[in-house]
Amino acid sequence: MSPPRNRLLAALPPVELATLLPMLDAMELAQHQVLHHREDPIAGLLFIESGCVSLLASLEDGEGVEATVVGHEGLVGVPLLLGEARAELHAVVRMPGCGLHLRAGLLNGTMERLPGLRRLLTCYVLARHGHATQLAACNVRHGIVQRLARTLLTAHDHADGQMVPMTHEILAMSLGVRRAGVTVAARQLHLSGCINYGAGRIAIADRSRLKAAACECHGVIQAAYARLRRTEDVPELEAAG
Ligand SMILES: [Zn+2]
Repeated sequence: MSPPRNRLLAALPPVELATLLPMLDAMELAQHQVLHHREDPIAGLLFIESGCVSLLASLEDGEGVEATVVGHEGLVGVPLLLGEARAELHAVVRMPGCGLHLRAGLLNGTMERLPGLRRLLTCYVLARHGHATQLAACNVRHGIVQRLARTLLTAHDHADGQMVPMTHEILAMSLGVRRAGVTVAARQLHLSGCINYGAGRIAIADRSRLKAAACECHGVIQAAYARLRRTEDVPELEAAG
């Protein structure tokens, strides 16, 4: 089997990765595929290899608002790591790809056998909490052009190549704004040479310009996940507790 593209799996000690890989089932992720609804039992941990999954909070009016998006830096199924068997959010594939799935029934035994995995996933939960906190601050303080640029940078991180398969409709749902607002903001990014768009796809014309147009939140979130890949930054739980 080729080395995993998932950053969590890639950060595991080689001995633990060799133990874990045979337990994982390959899973194709089709665009718009619903992995689970809110309150559904969670089938297991899904380590994203490519593409990305949108986690959506639902409101009383039936609208779904994207709480976060998970790509190859992470996994879907965090409640299981906290002892909760049911989903707190809808999970829908936003960008097609594939993943590696660890069935829920295998989780406890696996975590007992693999202390490196246990530490890494505990730190991942903290990074995801930091991600959500940063997005909450971003949504309150930063403008739509900055937030659109931040969202496109994340989508670009998750896409293979320069093209990002996202429509204005998906971006509006992701940003929690009207489609017309996305159109105006996208036009501004286009005029400043950051992106080109058409036919449901967006091309990143100049990533460094796009970074300059974005708020700091993309970098803050990326740095939190990058720390997980440096094993010296993953604390020993036993020593801390
Ligand atoms: Zn921001």
